Amino acid sequence: MKTYIVGNWKMNFTVGESSIYLHKLLKRLTSARGLEIVVAPSSIALPTLALQTDRHKIRLSAQNFYHRDFGAFTGEVSIAQLKGTVDYAIIGHSERRYIFNESDKDIKLKVAAALRNGITPILCIGETDNEKTFGETADVIRDQLLGGLADVSKEDIKKVIIAYEPVWAISSVKGARLAPPDDIATSVDLIRQELKALYGKEAEDVPVLYGGSVNPSNAGAYLTIPGVNGLLIGGTSLIADQFLDIIEVAKRVRS
Ligand code: PEP
Repeated sequence: MKTYIVGNWKMNFTVGESSIYLHKLLKRLTSARGLEIVVAPSSIALPTLALQTDRHKIRLSAQNFYHRDFGAFTGEVSIAQLKGTVDYAIIGHSERRYIFNESDKDIKLKVAAALRNGITPILCIGETDNEKTFGETADVIRDQLLGGLADVSKEDIKKVIIAYEPVWAISSVKGARLAPPDDIATSVDLIRQELKALYGKEAEDVPVLYGGSVNPSNAGAYLTIPGVNGLLIGGTSLIADQFLDIIEVAKRVRS
């Protein structure tokens, strides 16, 4: 299975800055066989970056979209409009869930829309600090998986990526702390058990990524957790040198 290194730029960089950054990555990225490098720029930069990128080296992801394909939805961008521009779409990120009040119903509609349009959904799930404190991690993981995948068939589950991101480990969250690899291993194991219960063998090859304060020093430890197939990186992905260093770590871990 491939190892995925995904950079989520969130609401950072102008179109020009995004283009300069991508140029730098493309120039400095050496062969990365077995790795899938993905960046998720702001929507406004996507068309420019799609013309600029070399898809053999770096693929693009949407950070968000509306679940309907076309119509009277002022201000929205659909995944149908992004077809041909992105290969992936981040869905259910905790910032969408908790700042923009996205529900599991919104999320399942987006997962279905991505699949309908041939785009790979990266479904983000993970518990908040409070939920962890109250021992609800397993329930949250189960609920968010069941909710987000509600309309995904056995044939389509192979086209989905899951990203486990405990909200309390995301660097921009107040009081964020590094997730111990053992905690992540427990959650990833639960995700895999749940996928198996829902889809059987069809789900064995579903990639599960980890995200939360990943940097070049801890990337190796996170990538070697059993069942983890890659990383979703926020803050650190904004610094080209560090993002490239994480890619180098991933190459070493794979070899
Ligand atoms: C994220 O927001 O998805 C994330 C993983 O952020 P960070 O790497 O900054 O913790």
